[in-house]
Amino acid sequence: MKNALIQQIKAIVGPDHVLTATEDRWTYAFDATDRERLPELVVFPGAAEEISRILVLANEHLFPVVPRGAGTGRSGGAVPIKGGVVLVLTRLNRILEINTKDLVAVVEPGVVLGKLKAAVAKQGLYYPPDPASAEFCTIGGNVAECAGGAVAVQYGVTRDYVLGLEVVLPTGEIIEAGTRTMKGVVGYDLTRLFLGSEGTLGVITRIILRLVAKPPARQTLAAAFTTLKAAAEAVSRILASGLAPTALEFMDRVTLGCVREMLPFKIPPQAAALLLIAVEGHPRDVEERAAAVAAFCREQGADPVLRAKTAAEADDLWKARKVVSPALLKVKPHKVSEDVVVPLGAIPDLIAGLEDLSKRRGLLIPCYGHAGDGNIHVNILYDQRLPGEANAVGPTVEELFHEVRRLQGTLSGEHGIGLTKAPYLGMELSPAAIALQKRLKQVFDPRGIMNPGKIFPPEAGDLRITLKSESN
Ligand SMILES: Cc1cc2nc3c(=O)[nH]c(=O)nc-3n(C[C@H](O)[C@H](O)[C@H](O)COP(=O)(O)OP(=O)(O)OC[C@H]3O[C@@H](n4cnc5c(N)ncnc54)[C@H](O)[C@@H]3O)c2cc1C
Repeated sequence: MKNALIQQIKAIVGPDHVLTATEDRWTYAFDATDRERLPELVVFPGAAEEISRILVLANEHLFPVVPRGAGTGRSGGAVPIKGGVVLVLTRLNRILEINTKDLVAVVEPGVVLGKLKAAVAKQGLYYPPDPASAEFCTIGGNVAECAGGAVAVQYGVTRDYVLGLEVVLPTGEIIEAGTRTMKGVVGYDLTRLFLGSEGTLGVITRIILRLVAKPPARQTLAAAFTTLKAAAEAVSRILASGLAPTALEFMDRVTLGCVREMLPFKIPPQAAALLLIAVEGHPRDVEERAAAVAAFCREQGADPVLRAKTAAEADDLWKARKVVSPALLKVKPHKVSEDVVVPLGAIPDLIAGLEDLSKRRGLLIPCYGHAGDGNIHVNILYDQRLPGEANAVGPTVEELFHEVRRLQGTLSGEHGIGLTKAPYLGMELSPAAIALQKRLKQVFDPRGIMNPGKIFPPEAGDLRITLKSESN
């Protein structure tokens, strides 16, 4: 990137808010995937107007701009694969309003989700979405990926809580979409279009969120099963039973082994799967539902079924669940994590298919995740130094996706397509649907400067910008 351009960007955001040193830029080259690419510049804007001016420059000089929150994304969305500017939104980190009458919060995108949840809870309210990364991801990243998490079974995902947005379009205009009211149908639903748009349609600079009342009581249970199949079958039966769990998570034997010592209970070594179940609501109702869930799990063959007796025990259970992803690296140094979703009735078939896939490909494929909404995190473990394992990963992912599509599932429930799944987009969307989505992208971003190389499979004709950074 030419020095004159860097100086212009420094004049917009202030020289202290631009990183040019190679070692500094490397720290913004990657996210939570194994992809990386050195950005030419890292910029920390302090206002929507600054972002607007940078995007106008990007259109004039044709450099990519890649929005970034905390870089915890799991599909490579914040990786500047075509170089250019990484626009880090962490300075925009103010909670502008928590309104206990309107039941809304107005926030900037760089607010860390855990801080937002805590601030809302202080006011006696609740912002439900709870991805396992809540303590370090940003709300802007959540909106851009439509993050989910454990309580989606009862409460839904980020999409269900975003009422309105302020967005800087790739061409520099600042628009408002949506409302601060609970309903609103004026014009096309642009808010929803930005939900899960992975930083390809604009930079989100303000978010109006719907809040709900804080549930007065919560109970957490853990149910151990001696076969994975029995646990998977129990999931669909619990969901059909009317017991209405708030969260219904599961871990297989390998996953359980990685976090066993963090659990507040002794889980017998023969356990092949653990279900973690939460119920929320009014205290008496919660007590009855928790007892019914425990009895139901025993009927399904779970042994033992344990109930957290204190808030600390429950916290320990959920903490163990939240670290399962990094804990799997105890088993093998590398992993590819997919977040496929299948219809609820197909969970046992998916699990059986994974066991078969693991045997045939000679790779360990532990799984865990949000069983209550069919969103299973499938982890393909390998050692990069062993060519037999490393070479088997790609075909294993492809076979997994074919199986998911055969079961009428979807390739991603919450992590998005980004870079890692772009080559597989055509396994789910028809050519006509992809062409329409590309035309939409072009309407928003005619010069293709906004997070290029994401979502759509790479095609020579797509890349309307070719930069010297391409050879980095
Ligand atoms: C240990 C671990 C556990 C996780 N658990 C879950 C889970 O349970 N559920 C779940 O859904 N996800 C989970 N994730 C994935 C990740 O945390 C989420 O996708 C999160 O929403 C990403 O937020 P971020 O701030 O890190 O975004 P980043 O990774 O920085 O960016 C993600 C995408 O959003 C875009 N973006 C970021 N900010 C903006 C903005 N202001 N405007 C426009 N585009 C923007 C980026 O360009 C990129 O495409 C987990 C990740 C890890 C590492």
